[in-house]
Amino acid sequence: MEKSIIDKILKAGKIAQELRRYAREIIVRDKSLFEIATLIDAKIFELGAKPAFPVNLSINEIAAHYTPSFGDTFVAQGLLKVDIGVQVDGYIADTAFTLDLDDLPENKKLIETAEAAVTASVNEFKIGKKLTEIGRVIGETISKKGFTTIVNLSGHSIERFVIHAGWTVPNFDSGQTDILEEGLYATEPFVTNGHGRVRDGKNSGIYRINSEGVVRDNFAREVLAWMSDEFQTLPFASRWIHAKFGSRGLLAIRQLEQAGVLYQYPQLVEISGGKVAQAEHTVLLTEDGEKYITTRE
Ligand code: MN
Ligand code: MN
Repeated sequence: MEKSIIDKILKAGKIAQELRRYAREIIVRDKSLFEIATLIDAKIFELGAKPAFPVNLSINEIAAHYTPSFGDTFVAQGLLKVDIGVQVDGYIADTAFTLDLDDLPENKKLIETAEAAVTASVNEFKIGKKLTEIGRVIGETISKKGFTTIVNLSGHSIERFVIHAGWTVPNFDSGQTDILEEGLYATEPFVTNGHGRVRDGKNSGIYRINSEGVVRDNFAREVLAWMSDEFQTLPFASRWIHAKFGSRGLLAIRQLEQAGVLYQYPQLVEISGGKVAQAEHTVLLTEDGEKYITTRE
């Protein structure tokens, strides 16, 4: 891996660290999720980067993939996962933490467990290590504290402009035979007091370009060209399209989604309604044996 690439990966990580601090500062109970997301988006640009995906602000049993759309009236409360993505020239940092806005001992225990699991995970990262071993350590850390790991959510390898690249970083002893090699990875344990699986929920307002399909409408084509230029293969929020094109932009999204050109992610909800905490860091392993936890101070 060239030094110039490593530098961009580390720069994205540094900016993500600042965003973690900033998000903790600005998020208070009953503040609008739309306002929080808009402030976080703006801060990423202010620091010289771009979002790698819309900030996820998922509450309680929603494990992931909640981002406010234009007109959203929900406010910060409960067990709130804050999952932030930053990219510098396509090189990504992906990081998450959880806040307890209800001041409940159970929430605090879930958060501590997610943090313990991500720390145990990053400590295991090393070229040559089996990914199933990482998953085993995460799963054991969680079960020792009396909670359950979510088995159908996982970390992932990361490539330039690709947030979920080929490999899975499991949250339990999955038996997969892949062995860590040089590269960029996100590890993200999800901890629950519920059953330990997620199902697809409502629409998220998070999209990505799915195929180079055809729409006849000229304006929809114009919006698509802008999306493609701006986000490439990365996820984006409908609120960003609204900010750029107004309500016509939202109509264009609907047309593009119906034509199969856009894919909309569903929210991911714990199947038994259990509360979910998440912690995530991005890890860079280089050929010469260096390890950087890019998103950790
Ligand atoms: Mn993430
Ligand atoms: Mn991730």
